[in-house]
Amino acid sequence: AGPLEGKTALVTGGSRGVGAGIVARLAADGANVAFTYANSGEQAEAVAAAAVAVGGTAQPIHADSLHEQDIEAAVAQTVDRFGGLDILVNNAGIGAFGPITDLKMDEIDAMLTINVRSAIVAIRESLVHMGDGGRIINIGSINADRTPFPGQSIYAATKGALASLTRGLARELAPRRITINNVQPGPVDTDANPADGPNASNLLGVMATDRFGTSAEVGAFVSYLAGPDAAYITGASLDIDGGFGA
Ligand code: NDP
Repeated sequence: AGPLEGKTALVTGGSRGVGAGIVARLAADGANVAFTYANSGEQAEAVAAAAVAVGGTAQPIHADSLHEQDIEAAVAQTVDRFGGLDILVNNAGIGAFGPITDLKMDEIDAMLTINVRSAIVAIRESLVHMGDGGRIINIGSINADRTPFPGQSIYAATKGALASLTRGLARELAPRRITINNVQPGPVDTDANPADGPNASNLLGVMATDRFGTSAEVGAFVSYLAGPDAAYITGASLDIDGGFGA
């Protein structure tokens, strides 16, 4: 039995990238995993099938993080299907980059809504169902602490909000032995930030390591934070960034 046997997790944005890596690892470590997706239905089915192939359980749920009702319905479906909710991972996120005067307000609003507001909605709804000893993990970004290039201000601000939210909620949730932490990845090879993309050499230039991270590495870190050994870690923003912030 894995360290998360008997636990139920909900991961937002699990159809691709970092979220898919988190789903895979939580399922491999024994959790029943529900995960949301917005557009990539086929990839969501493939993520679920891969979890089942290694003996895990994963359930895709269509839920657009732009919409509060979708998130509330995803929490309800998770609880209905698996009988509770122990672990929430707020991973769904988008980035629109450019000078603040060039970004359109609807692009800015979408970042604020998906990266910050949807996490708040998911946390509020999950806390109705989460028992003592639950786990909440936000996926922030090292850009909350370091933004070495212009054009990242709003994205960085959304990730800074997650860091502050995490600190504040640690105080509220500790009486229930629920921990909340904020994982801050540096460059991770995904569709959003390909290791062979046009920005890769700039990013590598400010890192200690000579490579991007993988979604599996972030998944392993998240699974540790979700597990029984991490009960004393709360309110923390924890970097997994190849030295981007060093
Ligand atoms: P990708 O763009 O590769 O994947 C994004 C995932 O989020 C997809 O599964 C997508 O689902 C889902 N998603 C996007 N919008 C919505 C929405 N409105 N509702 C529900 N799901 C949605 O991104 P990454 O995997 O690279 O990033 C994941 C998280 O990690 C983000 O929060 C990002 O900010 C953070 N991060 C990533 C870094 C990187 O270098 N890659 C570095 C630091 C942080 P679908 O396709 O089904 O719409």
